[in-house]
Amino acid sequence: MLEPLKQSMIGRAIENGIIELNVTDIREYTEDKHRRVDDTPYGGGAGMVMQAQPIMDAFEAKGCGGDVIYMSPRGEMLSGEMAEELAEENELTILCGHYEGVDQRALDMLGAREISIGDYVLTCGELPAMVLIDTVARFIEGVLPSEESVKDESIYSGLLEYPHYSRPAEYRGEAVPEILLSGNHGEVDLWRWEQSLALTKERRPDLFEAYLERDMKLSKREKKILDKYR
Ligand code: SAH
Repeated sequence: MLEPLKQSMIGRAIENGIIELNVTDIREYTEDKHRRVDDTPYGGGAGMVMQAQPIMDAFEAKGCGGDVIYMSPRGEMLSGEMAEELAEENELTILCGHYEGVDQRALDMLGAREISIGDYVLTCGELPAMVLIDTVARFIEGVLPSEESVKDESIYSGLLEYPHYSRPAEYRGEAVPEILLSGNHGEVDLWRWEQSLALTKERRPDLFEAYLERDMKLSKREKKILDKYR
């Protein structure tokens, strides 16, 4: 189930023992002779509900540690801040729903914190759990290569990231912006910052407004650039 996570830097972090992921199949804990873990909802309505018994037994058998998170579209919206906070924990247990969701009594007994990955509905909690794991892991020391700062990225920096280019300098007649080949780091930084400003203003006016509110020590030139976008 964790294959997608293993494709990237998270895979290396697992190999290096920086993070450890364990998966439990709740079905193994069902007392039903047909191995069912769901039943129809009391009160009627469409769909099935994951029953409390296999979930509680799985949790108790595994001795799951740390806070319990239930991936759910009715949860708090996942954010970078939340991910950074969760990365401080030594252990987390994530419950993934299926069908219509989980018997409320299991959620209450586990004291589960509900987290959503966005205003849309998926068929199961495994994909959202992987999204959560990936973004939390990026905040754990040693997961990203040391020269890469997690805070340097879009959103966390307060702005959307500038465009990237790599070799060759010309591809199908399209050249890389001249300034990036200049070797002048000061000018490159200014250019990138301006690109970020323009992109953020266009695509995410909400972020842009918040950025303008920041306390910034700007040089004359930087001030002039920012004024252009204000
Ligand atoms: N009936 C539920 C949706 C169930 S979707 C409702 O209306 O709220 C089935 C499972 O997928 C959920 O139990 C949850 O674990 C997962 N899921 C679906 N969309 C999600 C989202 N946006 N964020 C987090 N988990 C989600």
